[in-house]
Parts: sequence; structure tokens; C-alpha cells
Amino acid sequence: MSNTTTQMTVTELDKLTADLNRNYGDLDSHALLEVMIGQIFKDKIALVSSFGTEAALLLSLVSEINPHTPVIFLDTLKHFPETLEYRDRLIKKLGLSDVRSIKPEPSAIRAADPAGILFETNIDGCCYLRKVVPLEEALSGFTAWINGRKRLHGGGRAELETLEHDGRRVKINAIADWTQERIDQYWKDKDLPEHPLVPFGYFSVGCNTPLCTAPSDPNNPGKRSGRWAGIAKTECGIHNRPNTLDEPGGI
Ligand code: SF4
Repeated sequence: MSNTTTQMTVTELDKLTADLNRNYGDLDSHALLEVMIGQIFKDKIALVSSFGTEAALLLSLVSEINPHTPVIFLDTLKHFPETLEYRDRLIKKLGLSDVRSIKPEPSAIRAADPAGILFETNIDGCCYLRKVVPLEEALSGFTAWINGRKRLHGGGRAELETLEHDGRRVKINAIADWTQERIDQYWKDKDLPEHPLVPFGYFSVGCNTPLCTAPSDPNNPGKRSGRWAGIAKTECGIHNRPNTLDEPGGI
């Protein structure tokens, strides 16, 4: 697919993802990533990683295939220092050579969230400002992106297809079908380090605000129960992209 352009129509993306699912959707994660990174989307593909509690798994898989694959980390300026330290540790351990820490534009922050508390009044708007817009700019020039969502996370993720698109690019859900047992085994086999907040009960880690990340609810087995707990929001918007600061981004 050397002639794949960075801008395809939705109809073209529908057809492309249907073809890809038919031809490659049953491949195991490693083989799928090898084909997508090395052939189909060569030099036009990036991994988007939160460097959260399960991120090391996909980062490790991709690093085995090509450690020079671009990795996009959205530095919202609201992360726990532990996440930033973990990012740096994983970069070193896995030999990742092209991790891009993308920050929101200072002028956009000054205009829309000068006090840094937009999450209190417009939580979807805050994700739009600090994640959705920076990601779209960071993905400019790429035709496909890899992410680590899994069906076991439940909610809107329970029915994930291996390959889908977001209206602009192909999205590769390379580990969508991994079970907790398989994750745990891989982690052990590769001797991957734990995110420093896991021992404190955080099984999913996002931004460091009381509304956005809390220790997981011991009465709710869902790993993401500490994310936007008590709010009707389960995604930050990068997977269900709103088009403005005021359009709800959650699903
Ligand atoms: S997770 Fe919270 S602080 Fe981070 S961008 Fe979204 S609303 Fe803002």
C-alpha cells in the first residue's frame, strides 16, 4: 500500500478496513503488527500510548518489531509525575527511539483553561483541548495508528474490531482480544516493570485530578472504575472524537 495517501474519504476507509479485517484480522497480534508496521503502512503508522498501567505490553510488542516506530504520548500537562518517570524508564528499557511527548499549544491553554481547572466545569472540553486537538496534529502525516484498547475493558470497548477507522485514519486495535491471563503471562515473560501507582490501587491511570483518576473501586472489578468515577464519561474523546470544545467526547 505504498500509494496510501494521508487523506482518505470515509468510503475509502470503510472499504480499506473491511479488506484489512478480512485479510489480516485473524492474525495474532505480533504477526498483525509486523504486517501493518513493516508493509501495509510502512513509515505511515504511529503507536499512541498513555504510558499507563497496561501500556508496556503494546510498547514491548512494537519495540520487538521496530523500536524506531513513532510513539505518540499526549502530555496533557496534568499527568502524575510517576507516569512521566515510567515513560522515561520504558523508553530506556525497550530501546524506543522516537517517542514524541505532545503538549497542548500554550496559546490554546491560555485562551481556554488559564487557571487549569477546565476539567471541573467542562470535562469533555478539557480532554478536547489537551488530548483530542494535540493528537490530531500529532497524527498529521500518518495513515494509521495503533492503540491498546481491549475488549476486556468492557463498556464501549467490548465489541472492538481488530481494524477500524476514525473517519481520517485506520485504527489498529492489535491486542483487542487479549485476556487478563495472557496479559499477565506476557508481562512475566518479558519482565516488564509495573506502573508505580499500581501498588496504590490505581489499575488505570490518566490525568492527576480527583475527577479524572482515582484508585479503582474494589467493589467494581472493571480496571477503569477509577477513571472519571461517578461521572457519565468513560473515554477521553480520542477514540470518539468530538469536533469542538463543547461537544461531549465520552461514549
Ligand atoms: S483526563 Fe481530565 S485533566 Fe486530563 S485532559 Fe481529560 S478532563 Fe482534562
